[in-house]
Amino acid sequence: MTDAHLQQFASDNYAGICPEAGAAMAAANVGHVAAYGEDAWTMRAAEAMRELFATDCDVYFCFNGTAANSLALASLCQSYHSVICSRFAHVETDECGAPEFFSNGSKLLVAPTEDAKLTPDAIRAVATSRSDIHFPKARAVTITQPTETGQVYTLAEIRAIAAVCRDLGLRLHMDGARFANACAALGCTPAEMTWQTGVDVLCFGGTKNGMAVGEAVLFFDRTLSEDFDYRCKQAGQLASKMRFLAAPWIGMIESGAWLSNAAHANRSAATLAEGLVGLEEIAFVFPVEANAVFVQAPDAVLEGLRARGWRFYTFIGGAARFMFAWDADIGRVEALAADIRTLCAEQRSRVCA
Ligand SMILES: *Cc1c(COP(=O)(O)O)cnc(C)c1O
Repeated sequence: MTDAHLQQFASDNYAGICPEAGAAMAAANVGHVAAYGEDAWTMRAAEAMRELFATDCDVYFCFNGTAANSLALASLCQSYHSVICSRFAHVETDECGAPEFFSNGSKLLVAPTEDAKLTPDAIRAVATSRSDIHFPKARAVTITQPTETGQVYTLAEIRAIAAVCRDLGLRLHMDGARFANACAALGCTPAEMTWQTGVDVLCFGGTKNGMAVGEAVLFFDRTLSEDFDYRCKQAGQLASKMRFLAAPWIGMIESGAWLSNAAHANRSAATLAEGLVGLEEIAFVFPVEANAVFVQAPDAVLEGLRARGWRFYTFIGGAARFMFAWDADIGRVEALAADIRTLCAEQRSRVCA
């Protein structure tokens, strides 16, 4: 089964561009405008972002999440500083050392936690483990919202982390590659999720939300963004035709697609999870709170799924990850659930035989 048009749920990046982002790109594709962000589209996108977050933050647009995270963390740190993260953090496991590279060596310190959620205690333990000159000085904390394991920090949890950060003189960065999914899950505003609970810098993901490309970096404490434009340029992140990186955000924000896309993706994950409830062969490895479902299943079931053409990753403890995008086809989600149920039943009859 290799039909290229059948949806797969291995990654939310398999999806294409949503209509609102596409239309905004097309609208911006008229005539000549100034380059390098000196244009009306970029100004309007930054303004839309400030309205969405209900605050006068500094806004930058770059190409991808690795760069956004790395440059944001670099702006918080000197080379001798360190950044506390979870062992599942994208900055730790999936950015090829870019945070260390762009910060000229600021070290990531992995806090031991059960899942991808950092806790105030874990942060405090790492930050206070050493205070001598031989250890990289803790300077920042990064949390991923929702986490790489599909969990959502509650506002109270973020507030508690922010309090520890304030207490220890640490800055708080949020990797929001799927930020919209967290807002949809909690039903809270972007402001409540960030600066009102103590987040200093947010990387707001546009790509997984339905854009072709692009992430926004928002500095709620504007003193932290000094020379950030130079960092972006040096890192190859200053788009010369910036309007095409900026305009999609206008479409996403003004139409509300940023939130409805995420809500649909979350609903799709919930649909799969509901379809698997009660199967004794299936264990949910993490609570399903956003657009991801991680399931532990017998090898025969996973092999059977692959044989039926389903694609998925098993990079976290062998668990299968299913990830839903803005355009997930609910019929196809139900087909996946049905295939898993069938394979589990076959497994059961084999075990009993
Ligand atoms: C996808 C993702 C990113 C960004 O990845 P890029 O491929 O660099 O755009 C960052 N953080 C998390 C948690 C992600 O899932």
